[in-house]
Amino acid sequence: EAKASYRGSYSFFSNEMNLRAQERLALENALREAIEKQQLRLHYQPQVMVEDGRLHGVEALTRWHHPTLGEVSPARFIPLAEESGLIGSLGLWVLEEACRQLADWQSRGIDVPCVAVNLSPTNFHNIELPPIISALLARYALEPARLVLEITENVLLDGNATTLSIIQEVHALGVKLSMDDFGTGYSSLSYLRRLPVSELKLDKSFVHDLHNDQTAQALSEAVIRIGESLNLVVVAEGVENEIQLNLLRQQGFHVIQGFYLSKPLPAPMLESWLQRRPPVN
Ligand code: C2E
Ligand code: MG
Ligand code: MG
Ligand code: MG
Repeated sequence: EAKASYRGSYSFFSNEMNLRAQERLALENALREAIEKQQLRLHYQPQVMVEDGRLHGVEALTRWHHPTLGEVSPARFIPLAEESGLIGSLGLWVLEEACRQLADWQSRGIDVPCVAVNLSPTNFHNIELPPIISALLARYALEPARLVLEITENVLLDGNATTLSIIQEVHALGVKLSMDDFGTGYSSLSYLRRLPVSELKLDKSFVHDLHNDQTAQALSEAVIRIGESLNLVVVAEGVENEIQLNLLRQQGFHVIQGFYLSKPLPAPMLESWLQRRPPVN
């Protein structure tokens, strides 16, 4: 009897797994189609300098509105893109779209100093990445330093020998590199010696706990110290309220980004946000 019920639950789970695999495959195909048909969109979240409230730049974040599922979170489709090999073409689409948008702002006299895009470790396996970026900058007549590539601490984790040289080539073009989600990955400190980053972004999980967690406070203070001594711009992401802003300001953070200022917005809405931009102080 025990055996029978075991078999029963086994087939139940196996059906469930099957269903999940099918759903996954369907979602993967839909994502492939969305990339091909250019149905993804970028939203832009402002990053503001703590000292004087000026715009530091914006971060481009990919949005996917699925015809029947509605809005699919990047937390879902980015891992899917990575596992299915779609992240390569997704990353290139994001780069091109961000450059196109920056050039559009430039031609209309809208002052957005730089655009940051998120790239996955896999994007740095592609030896074509540096020439592609170089061609994009030329095509859209952009100063290289106005493009920022956000990388994570895990970028070198797979031990792929070409990754570091591709990062260095991109850096040599004059493009800026920013270390995203700082504090959550592996060997953060040793990576700082090897990667030519000019910016650190303290992960939002630390910011979230700042007001009631001594450890989070000590860690964010350590990050600002490291950043200052290495001459890096230090950004706090995920700033949701004034308490956090004031703590980060006291600690000396240079730039803040988060819902307290604005959520990520479609380009036209970012433009109106810029016009009625509230001062940070
Ligand atoms: P991330 O690069 O660390 O981006 C910050 C995330 O925090 C974004 O989530 C943003 O909407 C969210 N956020 C901003 N301010 C706040 C705040 O005050 N509070 C909270 N709780 N969250 C805030 P999003 O857009 O859902 O993206 C999640 C992650 O997905 C990103 O984290 C990034 O790792 C990845 N991602 C998004 N777009 C792309 C992309 O185009 N390419 C790649 N490779 N990854 C992407
Ligand atoms: Mg990011
Ligand atoms: Mg981040
Ligand atoms: Mg993050």
